[in-house]
Amino acid sequence: MRIQFCGGVRSVTGSMHVLEIGERRILLECGLYQGRRSEARKRNKELPFDASKIDHTVLSHAHIDHSGNLPNLVKSGYEGRITATEATADLARVLLRDSAHIAEKDAEYLNRKREPGEPEVEPLYTQQDADEAASRFDTVRYHETKEIAPGVRMTCYDAGHILGSAVTLYELEEKGKTVRLGFTGDLGRPHHPILRDPQLLPRIDYLITESTYGNRTHEAATSMKEKLFTVVNQTFDAGGRLVIPAFSVGRTQNLLYYMAELFQEGRMPKVPIFVDSPLAIDATKAYRDHPECYDAETKELLQAGGSVFGFDLVTYTRTTQQSKELNARKGPCIVISASGMCEGGRILHHLKHSIEEPRNTILIVGFQAEHTLGRRILERHSTVKIYGRKYHLGARVMKMNGFSAHADRDELATYVKHIPGLKSVFVVHGEESASLAFAAYLESMGIHAHVPYPLDYVEL
Ligand SMILES: [Zn+2]
Repeated sequence: MRIQFCGGVRSVTGSMHVLEIGERRILLECGLYQGRRSEARKRNKELPFDASKIDHTVLSHAHIDHSGNLPNLVKSGYEGRITATEATADLARVLLRDSAHIAEKDAEYLNRKREPGEPEVEPLYTQQDADEAASRFDTVRYHETKEIAPGVRMTCYDAGHILGSAVTLYELEEKGKTVRLGFTGDLGRPHHPILRDPQLLPRIDYLITESTYGNRTHEAATSMKEKLFTVVNQTFDAGGRLVIPAFSVGRTQNLLYYMAELFQEGRMPKVPIFVDSPLAIDATKAYRDHPECYDAETKELLQAGGSVFGFDLVTYTRTTQQSKELNARKGPCIVISASGMCEGGRILHHLKHSIEEPRNTILIVGFQAEHTLGRRILERHSTVKIYGRKYHLGARVMKMNGFSAHADRDELATYVKHIPGLKSVFVVHGEESASLAFAAYLESMGIHAHVPYPLDYVEL
Protein backbone atom coordinates (compact mmCIF):
# COMPACT_ATOMS: atom_id res chain seq x y z
CA MET A 1 0.00 0.00 0.00
CA ARG A 2 1.12 3.55 -0.62
CA ILE A 3 0.24 7.26 -0.44
CA GLN A 4 0.45 9.67 -3.33
CA PHE A 5 0.81 13.28 -2.25
CA CYS A 6 -1.17 15.04 -4.96
CA GLY A 7 -1.60 18.61 -3.73
CA GLY A 8 -0.87 21.01 -0.89
CA VAL A 9 2.67 19.64 -0.79
CA ARG A 10 5.44 22.22 -0.36
CA SER A 11 2.58 24.72 -0.68
CA VAL A 12 -0.53 25.66 1.28
CA THR A 13 -3.43 25.35 -1.15
CA GLY A 14 -5.08 22.49 -3.01
CA SER A 15 -4.67 19.79 -0.32
CA MET A 16 -5.15 16.34 -1.83
CA HIS A 17 -3.65 12.90 -1.09
CA VAL A 18 -4.58 9.46 -2.41
CA LEU A 19 -4.26 6.28 -0.35
CA GLU A 20 -3.83 3.15 -2.45
CA ILE A 21 -4.56 -0.13 -0.68
CA GLY A 22 -4.41 -2.83 -3.35
CA GLU A 23 -7.13 -1.88 -5.82
CA ARG A 24 -8.87 0.47 -3.41
CA ARG A 25 -8.39 4.24 -3.71
CA ILE A 26 -9.21 6.67 -0.89
CA LEU A 27 -8.96 10.41 -1.45
CA LEU A 28 -8.10 12.60 1.53
CA GLU A 29 -9.31 16.18 0.88
CA CYS A 30 -9.99 17.81 -2.45
CA GLY A 31 -8.84 21.38 -1.92
CA LEU A 32 -8.95 24.29 -4.29
CA TYR A 33 -5.59 25.34 -5.66
CA GLN A 34 -5.23 29.12 -5.45
CA GLY A 35 -2.66 31.04 -7.44
CA ARG A 36 -2.40 32.86 -10.75
CA ARG A 37 -5.73 32.61 -12.56
CA SER A 38 -4.75 30.58 -15.64
CA GLU A 39 -2.55 28.14 -13.74
CA ALA A 40 -5.12 27.73 -10.97
CA ARG A 41 -7.84 26.98 -13.47
CA LYS A 42 -5.81 24.29 -15.21
CA ARG A 43 -4.72 22.65 -11.96
CA ASN A 44 -8.22 22.63 -10.51
CA LYS A 45 -9.84 21.31 -13.69
CA GLU A 46 -7.24 18.62 -14.45
CA LEU A 47 -7.03 16.32 -11.45
CA PRO A 48 -3.77 14.33 -11.19
CA PHE A 49 -5.72 11.02 -10.91
CA ASP A 50 -8.70 9.32 -12.50
CA ALA A 51 -11.69 10.55 -10.45
CA SER A 52 -13.83 7.57 -11.49
CA LYS A 53 -11.30 5.17 -9.87
CA ILE A 54 -11.60 6.74 -6.41
CA ASP A 55 -13.76 4.59 -4.10
CA HIS A 56 -14.28 7.04 -1.26
CA THR A 57 -13.35 10.58 -0.18
CA VAL A 58 -12.82 11.93 3.35
CA LEU A 59 -12.85 15.63 4.20
CA SER A 60 -11.09 16.77 7.40
CA HIS A 61 -12.69 20.24 7.55
CA ALA A 62 -14.61 22.75 5.47
CA HIS A 63 -11.94 25.32 4.54
CA ILE A 64 -11.79 25.82 0.77
CA ASP A 65 -8.11 24.87 0.47
CA HIS A 66 -9.25 21.42 1.64
CA SER A 67 -12.80 21.15 0.21
CA GLY A 68 -13.04 23.65 -2.63
CA ASN A 69 -12.36 21.33 -5.55
CA LEU A 70 -14.98 18.72 -4.58
CA PRO A 71 -17.39 20.07 -7.23
CA ASN A 72 -14.77 19.42 -9.94
CA LEU A 73 -14.10 15.96 -8.51
CA VAL A 74 -17.77 15.10 -8.99
CA LYS A 75 -17.83 16.74 -12.43
CA SER A 76 -14.79 14.64 -13.38
CA GLY A 77 -16.66 11.38 -12.87
CA TYR A 78 -16.32 10.63 -9.15
CA GLU A 79 -19.28 8.49 -8.14
CA GLY A 80 -18.58 7.82 -4.47
CA ARG A 81 -19.58 9.44 -1.21
CA ILE A 82 -17.70 12.01 0.90
CA THR A 83 -17.33 11.31 4.61
CA ALA A 84 -17.04 14.21 7.07
CA THR A 85 -18.38 15.18 10.48
CA GLU A 86 -21.89 16.61 10.42
CA ALA A 87 -20.62 20.09 11.29
CA THR A 88 -18.05 19.95 8.48
CA ALA A 89 -20.72 18.87 6.00
CA ASP A 90 -22.94 21.82 7.01
CA LEU A 91 -20.14 24.35 6.91
CA ALA A 92 -18.74 22.97 3.63
CA ARG A 93 -22.17 23.34 2.02
CA VAL A 94 -22.06 27.06 2.89
CA LEU A 95 -18.45 27.55 1.80
CA LEU A 96 -18.79 25.62 -1.48
CA ARG A 97 -21.78 27.74 -2.46
CA ASP A 98 -19.83 30.88 -1.66
CA SER A 99 -16.85 29.61 -3.66
CA ALA A 100 -19.15 28.84 -6.63
CA HIS A 101 -20.64 32.33 -6.35
CA ILE A 102 -17.14 33.85 -6.54
CA ALA A 103 -16.31 31.63 -9.56
CA GLU A 104 -19.52 32.70 -11.32
CA LYS A 105 -18.82 36.40 -10.67
CA ASP A 106 -15.25 35.95 -11.88
CA ALA A 107 -16.45 34.36 -15.16
CA GLU A 108 -19.02 37.15 -15.61
CA TYR A 109 -16.29 39.76 -15.20
CA LEU A 110 -13.96 38.03 -17.67
CA ASN A 111 -16.77 37.70 -20.20
CA ARG A 112 -17.55 41.43 -19.94
CA LYS A 113 -13.88 42.19 -20.69
CA ARG A 114 -13.70 39.64 -23.52
CA GLU A 115 -12.49 40.80 -26.97
CA PRO A 116 -14.71 39.92 -29.94
CA GLY A 117 -13.91 36.40 -31.19
CA GLU A 118 -12.54 35.16 -27.85
CA PRO A 119 -14.32 32.09 -26.43
CA GLU A 120 -16.76 32.52 -23.56
CA VAL A 121 -15.30 31.81 -20.10
CA GLU A 122 -17.12 29.15 -18.08
CA PRO A 123 -17.08 29.44 -14.28
CA LEU A 124 -14.75 26.96 -12.57
CA TYR A 125 -17.97 25.50 -11.18
CA THR A 126 -21.49 26.69 -10.54
CA GLN A 127 -23.71 26.78 -7.44
CA GLN A 128 -25.50 23.77 -8.87
CA ASP A 129 -22.19 21.87 -9.07
CA ALA A 130 -21.46 22.89 -5.47
CA ASP A 131 -24.86 21.59 -4.33
CA GLU A 132 -24.30 18.34 -6.24
CA ALA A 133 -20.99 17.80 -4.42
CA ALA A 134 -22.59 18.67 -1.07
CA SER A 135 -25.32 16.07 -1.70
CA ARG A 136 -22.59 13.38 -1.53
CA PHE A 137 -21.78 13.96 2.15
CA ASP A 138 -22.12 11.03 4.56
CA THR A 139 -21.64 12.14 8.12
CA VAL A 140 -19.76 10.50 10.96
CA ARG A 141 -19.52 11.39 14.65
CA TYR A 142 -16.25 12.03 16.46
CA HIS A 143 -14.80 8.72 17.78
CA GLU A 144 -17.17 6.60 15.72
CA THR A 145 -15.25 4.08 13.57
CA LYS A 146 -16.59 3.63 10.08
CA GLU A 147 -15.63 1.23 7.31
CA ILE A 148 -15.40 3.46 4.22
CA ALA A 149 -14.20 0.70 1.85
CA PRO A 150 -13.53 -3.01 2.38
CA GLY A 151 -10.64 -3.23 4.84
CA VAL A 152 -10.42 0.54 5.31
CA ARG A 153 -11.69 1.94 8.62
CA MET A 154 -11.54 5.57 9.70
CA THR A 155 -12.16 7.45 12.95
CA CYS A 156 -12.40 11.22 13.57
CA TYR A 157 -10.77 12.96 16.54
CA ASP A 158 -11.03 16.64 17.52
CA ALA A 159 -8.63 18.87 15.58
CA GLY A 160 -9.71 22.13 17.31
CA HIS A 161 -9.12 24.12 14.10
CA ILE A 162 -12.57 25.23 12.91
CA LEU A 163 -16.07 23.91 13.57
CA GLY A 164 -16.26 20.21 12.65
CA SER A 165 -12.53 19.85 11.98
CA ALA A 166 -11.07 16.39 12.51
CA VAL A 167 -7.77 14.62 12.80
CA THR A 168 -8.45 11.33 11.06
CA LEU A 169 -7.09 7.88 11.80
CA TYR A 170 -7.07 5.18 9.11
CA GLU A 171 -6.66 1.46 9.67
CA LEU A 172 -5.64 -0.02 6.34
CA GLU A 173 -5.62 -3.76 5.69
CA GLU A 174 -3.95 -5.53 2.80
CA LYS A 175 -2.94 -9.21 2.55
CA GLY A 176 -3.02 -9.74 6.30
CA LYS A 177 -0.97 -6.60 7.02
CA THR A 178 -2.53 -3.67 8.95
CA VAL A 179 -1.12 -0.16 8.82
CA ARG A 180 -2.36 2.68 11.03
CA LEU A 181 -2.05 6.11 9.46
CA GLY A 182 -3.00 9.47 10.98
CA PHE A 183 -3.74 12.71 9.16
CA THR A 184 -3.87 16.03 11.02
CA GLY A 185 -5.87 17.92 8.38
CA ASP A 186 -5.29 21.38 9.83
CA LEU A 187 -4.43 21.24 13.51
CA GLY A 188 -5.79 23.88 15.88
CA ARG A 189 -4.38 25.28 19.10
CA PRO A 190 -5.01 24.31 22.69
CA HIS A 191 -7.09 26.88 24.68
CA HIS A 192 -8.71 28.18 21.51
CA PRO A 193 -12.27 29.38 22.17
CA ILE A 194 -15.51 27.48 21.41
CA LEU A 195 -13.98 24.21 20.20
CA ARG A 196 -12.45 21.37 22.14
CA ASP A 197 -8.65 21.21 22.09
CA PRO A 198 -6.87 19.03 19.51
CA GLN A 199 -7.04 15.45 20.67
CA LEU A 200 -4.04 13.17 20.61
CA LEU A 201 -4.14 10.14 18.33
CA PRO A 202 -3.63 6.67 19.78
CA ARG A 203 -0.78 4.45 18.53
CA ILE A 204 -0.13 4.82 14.78
CA ASP A 205 2.64 3.87 12.36
CA TYR A 206 2.65 6.96 10.15
CA LEU A 207 1.38 10.53 10.33
CA ILE A 208 0.70 13.08 7.60
CA THR A 209 0.96 16.48 9.28
CA GLU A 210 0.31 20.04 8.21
CA SER A 211 3.07 22.60 8.74
CA THR A 212 1.48 26.00 8.00
CA TYR A 213 3.35 27.57 10.92
CA GLY A 214 6.13 24.96 11.01
CA ASN A 215 8.72 27.72 11.41
CA ARG A 216 6.88 30.23 13.64
CA THR A 217 5.41 30.65 17.09
CA HIS A 218 2.26 32.60 18.07
CA GLU A 219 1.15 34.66 21.04
CA ALA A 220 -0.57 32.56 23.72
CA ALA A 221 -4.24 32.02 22.86
CA THR A 222 -5.14 32.55 26.52
CA SER A 223 -4.26 36.27 26.57
CA MET A 224 -6.63 37.25 23.74
CA LYS A 225 -9.69 38.11 25.79
CA GLU A 226 -7.84 40.59 28.02
CA LYS A 227 -6.15 42.21 25.03
CA LEU A 228 -9.48 42.58 23.30
CA PHE A 229 -10.93 44.10 26.47
CA THR A 230 -8.16 46.73 26.49
CA VAL A 231 -8.58 47.64 22.82
CA VAL A 232 -12.37 47.87 23.11
CA ASN A 233 -12.19 50.13 26.16
CA GLN A 234 -9.49 52.41 24.81
CA THR A 235 -11.51 52.94 21.63
CA PHE A 236 -14.69 53.79 23.49
CA ASP A 237 -12.97 56.03 26.00
CA ALA A 238 -11.79 57.98 22.96
CA GLY A 239 -15.39 57.99 21.60
CA GLY A 240 -14.33 56.07 18.50
CA ARG A 241 -15.38 53.17 16.36
CA LEU A 242 -13.65 49.77 16.33
CA VAL A 243 -13.37 48.21 12.89
CA ILE A 244 -12.20 44.59 12.70
CA PRO A 245 -11.46 42.97 9.33
CA ALA A 246 -12.00 39.25 9.97
CA PHE A 247 -12.35 36.00 8.08
CA SER A 248 -15.98 34.93 8.09
CA VAL A 249 -15.33 31.41 9.36
CA GLY A 250 -13.59 30.91 12.67
CA ARG A 251 -12.11 34.32 13.35
CA THR A 252 -15.48 36.11 13.48
CA GLN A 253 -16.98 33.49 15.82
CA ASN A 254 -13.92 33.57 18.09
CA LEU A 255 -14.14 37.36 18.41
CA LEU A 256 -17.82 37.03 19.28
CA TYR A 257 -17.01 34.39 21.86
CA TYR A 258 -14.54 36.63 23.74
CA MET A 259 -16.98 39.55 23.59
CA ALA A 260 -19.76 37.25 24.86
CA GLU A 261 -17.59 36.24 27.81
CA LEU A 262 -16.78 39.89 28.60
CA PHE A 263 -20.49 40.68 28.31
CA GLN A 264 -21.41 37.81 30.64
CA GLU A 265 -18.82 39.06 33.15
CA GLY A 266 -20.34 42.57 32.96
CA ARG A 267 -17.13 44.01 31.52
CA MET A 268 -18.19 44.75 27.96
CA PRO A 269 -19.06 48.41 27.32
CA LYS A 270 -22.69 48.77 26.19
CA VAL A 271 -21.95 49.50 22.56
CA PRO A 272 -23.52 47.83 19.57
CA ILE A 273 -21.57 45.12 17.74
CA PHE A 274 -22.37 44.60 14.06
CA VAL A 275 -21.42 41.44 12.19
CA ASP A 276 -21.54 42.68 8.60
CA SER A 277 -20.96 39.73 6.25
CA PRO A 278 -23.55 37.37 4.75
CA LEU A 279 -20.99 34.54 4.73
CA ALA A 280 -20.16 35.14 8.40
CA ILE A 281 -23.90 35.01 9.18
CA ASP A 282 -24.28 31.64 7.43
CA ALA A 283 -21.12 30.28 9.02
CA THR A 284 -22.25 31.49 12.45
CA LYS A 285 -25.52 29.61 11.94
CA ALA A 286 -23.50 26.40 11.44
CA TYR A 287 -21.58 27.18 14.65
CA ARG A 288 -24.89 27.67 16.49
CA ASP A 289 -26.34 24.45 15.05
CA HIS A 290 -23.51 22.25 16.32
CA PRO A 291 -23.14 22.55 20.09
CA GLU A 292 -21.80 18.96 20.09
CA CYS A 293 -18.47 20.50 18.99
CA TYR A 294 -18.21 22.97 21.91
CA ASP A 295 -15.65 22.82 24.69
CA ALA A 296 -16.48 22.82 28.41
CA GLU A 297 -16.07 26.62 28.82
CA THR A 298 -18.53 27.34 26.02
CA LYS A 299 -21.06 24.87 27.46
CA GLU A 300 -20.67 26.55 30.87
CA LEU A 301 -21.27 29.97 29.35
CA LEU A 302 -24.47 28.71 27.74
CA GLN A 303 -25.59 26.93 30.91
CA ALA A 304 -25.08 30.15 32.88
CA GLY A 305 -27.67 31.75 30.59
CA GLY A 306 -25.16 33.41 28.28
CA SER A 307 -25.27 33.37 24.53
CA VAL A 308 -22.19 33.22 22.34
CA PHE A 309 -23.54 34.39 19.03
CA GLY A 310 -26.70 36.28 19.95
CA PHE A 311 -26.07 38.27 23.12
CA ASP A 312 -27.90 41.60 23.46
CA LEU A 313 -25.30 43.83 21.83
CA VAL A 314 -24.94 41.83 18.60
CA THR A 315 -26.73 42.63 15.33
CA TYR A 316 -26.22 40.71 12.10
CA THR A 317 -26.56 42.76 8.92
CA ARG A 318 -27.20 40.76 5.78
CA THR A 319 -28.45 43.21 3.17
CA THR A 320 -26.36 45.84 1.37
CA GLN A 321 -28.79 48.49 2.57
CA GLN A 322 -28.26 47.54 6.24
CA SER A 323 -24.52 47.57 5.64
CA LYS A 324 -24.61 51.07 4.16
CA GLU A 325 -26.70 52.37 7.04
CA LEU A 326 -23.89 51.44 9.44
CA ASN A 327 -21.70 54.12 7.92
CA ALA A 328 -24.23 56.84 8.63
CA ARG A 329 -24.45 55.82 12.31
CA LYS A 330 -23.22 58.23 14.93
CA GLY A 331 -21.38 57.24 18.09
CA PRO A 332 -19.13 54.32 19.06
CA CYS A 333 -19.72 50.82 17.77
CA ILE A 334 -17.86 47.69 16.75
CA VAL A 335 -17.97 46.47 13.15
CA ILE A 336 -16.70 42.99 12.27
CA SER A 337 -16.62 42.47 8.52
CA ALA A 338 -14.86 40.57 5.71
CA SER A 339 -12.60 40.08 3.88
CA GLY A 340 -9.94 39.39 6.46
CA MET A 341 -7.09 40.90 4.42
CA CYS A 342 -9.19 43.89 3.26
CA GLU A 343 -8.93 42.78 -0.37
CA GLY A 344 -12.62 43.05 -1.13
CA GLY A 345 -16.06 42.87 0.43
CA ARG A 346 -17.87 45.18 2.78
CA ILE A 347 -14.90 45.90 5.02
CA LEU A 348 -13.63 48.31 2.35
CA HIS A 349 -16.64 50.58 2.84
CA HIS A 350 -16.19 50.56 6.60
CA LEU A 351 -12.50 51.37 6.26
CA LYS A 352 -13.25 54.19 3.82
CA HIS A 353 -15.51 55.83 6.39
CA SER A 354 -13.35 55.16 9.46
CA ILE A 355 -9.72 55.18 8.45
CA GLU A 356 -9.02 58.92 8.65
CA GLU A 357 -10.50 59.57 12.11
CA PRO A 358 -7.87 59.37 14.93
CA ARG A 359 -10.47 58.34 17.53
CA ASN A 360 -11.16 55.10 15.61
CA THR A 361 -9.24 51.84 15.87
CA ILE A 362 -8.59 49.26 13.19
CA LEU A 363 -7.87 45.94 14.84
CA ILE A 364 -5.95 43.41 12.75
CA VAL A 365 -6.57 39.86 13.96
CA GLY A 366 -5.30 37.74 11.08
CA PHE A 367 -2.36 37.14 8.83
CA GLN A 368 -1.98 39.87 6.17
CA ALA A 369 -0.28 38.73 2.97
CA GLU A 370 2.11 40.98 1.10
CA HIS A 371 0.60 43.50 -1.32
CA THR A 372 -2.81 43.50 0.44
CA LEU A 373 -4.53 46.58 1.85
CA GLY A 374 -4.52 44.85 5.25
CA ARG A 375 -0.73 44.63 5.12
CA ARG A 376 -0.39 48.32 4.20
CA ILE A 377 -2.63 49.27 7.12
CA LEU A 378 -0.65 47.03 9.45
CA GLU A 379 2.59 48.66 8.27
CA ARG A 380 0.98 52.06 8.93
CA HIS A 381 1.49 53.58 5.49
CA SER A 382 0.53 57.26 5.88
CA THR A 383 -1.91 57.04 2.97
CA VAL A 384 -3.68 54.00 1.54
CA LYS A 385 -5.80 53.54 -1.56
CA ILE A 386 -9.35 52.24 -1.29
CA TYR A 387 -11.39 51.92 -4.50
CA GLY A 388 -8.79 54.02 -6.30
CA ARG A 389 -9.00 56.96 -3.89
CA LYS A 390 -6.28 57.95 -1.43
CA TYR A 391 -7.09 58.10 2.29
CA HIS A 392 -4.95 59.36 5.13
CA LEU A 393 -4.42 56.61 7.72
CA GLY A 394 -5.36 58.55 10.85
CA ALA A 395 -6.99 55.78 12.87
CA ARG A 396 -5.08 53.82 15.47
CA VAL A 397 -3.94 50.39 14.23
CA MET A 398 -3.71 47.50 16.68
CA LYS A 399 -2.69 43.94 16.07
CA MET A 400 -3.44 40.69 17.88
CA ASN A 401 -1.84 37.59 16.40
CA GLY A 402 -2.99 35.01 18.95
CA PHE A 403 -6.19 34.31 17.04
CA SER A 404 -4.56 31.90 14.61
CA ALA A 405 -6.54 28.69 14.13
CA HIS A 406 -3.35 26.76 13.34
CA ALA A 407 -0.99 25.22 15.86
CA ASP A 408 2.41 26.92 15.77
CA ARG A 409 5.72 25.06 15.51
CA ASP A 410 5.96 24.20 19.20
CA GLU A 411 2.31 23.15 19.48
CA LEU A 412 2.61 20.96 16.36
CA ALA A 413 5.84 19.39 17.59
CA THR A 414 4.35 18.69 21.03
CA TYR A 415 1.38 17.05 19.36
CA VAL A 416 3.54 14.82 17.14
CA LYS A 417 5.95 13.95 19.96
CA HIS A 418 3.18 12.52 22.12
CA ILE A 419 1.77 10.12 19.53
CA PRO A 420 2.96 6.62 20.39
CA GLY A 421 4.50 4.21 17.88
CA LEU A 422 5.37 6.63 15.06
CA LYS A 423 7.79 5.27 12.46
CA SER A 424 7.71 8.24 10.14
CA VAL A 425 6.04 11.62 9.64
CA PHE A 426 5.18 13.12 6.25
CA VAL A 427 5.19 16.92 6.39
CA VAL A 428 2.75 18.66 4.02
CA HIS A 429 0.56 21.79 3.80
CA GLY A 430 3.06 24.56 4.41
CA GLU A 431 5.19 26.91 2.34
CA GLU A 432 8.26 24.91 1.37
CA SER A 433 10.48 26.74 3.89
CA ALA A 434 8.00 26.08 6.73
CA SER A 435 7.65 22.37 5.86
CA LEU A 436 11.42 21.87 5.62
CA ALA A 437 12.04 23.75 8.86
CA PHE A 438 9.41 21.71 10.67
CA ALA A 439 10.76 18.40 9.34
CA ALA A 440 14.26 19.42 10.50
CA TYR A 441 12.84 20.35 13.91
CA LEU A 442 11.19 16.92 14.24
CA GLU A 443 14.42 15.22 13.18
CA SER A 444 16.26 17.17 15.89
CA MET A 445 13.80 15.61 18.36
CA GLY A 446 14.65 12.13 17.06
CA ILE A 447 11.46 11.74 14.98
CA HIS A 448 11.92 10.61 11.39
CA ALA A 449 10.33 13.20 9.08
CA HIS A 450 10.05 13.51 5.32
CA VAL A 451 8.82 16.35 3.07
CA PRO A 452 7.46 14.84 -0.15
CA TYR A 453 7.43 16.58 -3.51
CA PRO A 454 4.15 17.00 -5.40
CA LEU A 455 2.97 13.68 -6.92
CA ASP A 456 5.55 11.63 -4.95
CA TYR A 457 4.57 8.14 -3.80
CA VAL A 458 5.56 6.73 -0.44
CA GLU A 459 5.22 3.02 0.32
CA LEU A 460 3.74 2.15 3.72
ZN1 LIG B 1 -8.06 25.01 7.57
